[in-house]
Amino acid sequence: MNFTAARRRMVQTQIVDRGVGDKLVLAAMRTIPRHAFLSQELWAEAYQDNPLPIGYGQTISQPYMVGLMTSLLELQGTEKILEIGTGSGYQAAVLGALAAEVHSVERIPELAASAQEKLVALHFNNITIHVGDGSLGWPEAAPYDGILVTAGAPVSPPGLPEQLKDGGRLVIPVGEHWRQILQVWIRGGDGFEIKEILPVVFVPLKGAQGWQDSD
Ligand code: SAM
Repeated sequence: MNFTAARRRMVQTQIVDRGVGDKLVLAAMRTIPRHAFLSQELWAEAYQDNPLPIGYGQTISQPYMVGLMTSLLELQGTEKILEIGTGSGYQAAVLGALAAEVHSVERIPELAASAQEKLVALHFNNITIHVGDGSLGWPEAAPYDGILVTAGAPVSPPGLPEQLKDGGRLVIPVGEHWRQILQVWIRGGDGFEIKEILPVVFVPLKGAQGWQDSD
């Protein structure tokens, strides 16, 4: 299979044609091998227009979601970014290609370890994976220029916007268990402008400020 051609097609038909125009995001997604973050049996499907299983009941997000959410951070290359929900590590790689420093938190240790291994193999040295409850953010490395949450939260966890720098952006799916609205929070001093982008479907954000296991 010609992965390079498949990636170019993916970016054009799934991302550009749906209105994402951030050239830096598009270039990163034409380069980063999504298949390398999946088990080999799924490589033939790696550039299709959907999420795919990565084990433990979790998924790698649809490429369009990765492109759209990343573009909403409006990265220039100098930023420190927090991702919540490392999963396969693919979104972290896209962020790592576009920002100066990336922290990514995953609650399932096995997924964190596998993502870490893949990112090292691809020579990303500006991404640190942490195991923990990302519904609390990652205060140790705060404040961030951007926070990207790749799981759906019942409400935006109160501690997250506080971990943004002034002018920083939080991109987060908020809503029901399997149906959310993608929101962008932009910090201006002690206040926040909140924009609603579109309806999305993400796996639940679990944890102290997310869904409980009993939900
Ligand atoms: N960004 C991922 C990628 O590129 O493959 C996709 C993430 S998947 C849709 C959501 C991830 O969020 C899952 O791996 C899940 O275990 C993780 N997650 C859910 N709740 C979490 C929490 N409180 N803290 C950290 N990770 C969490």
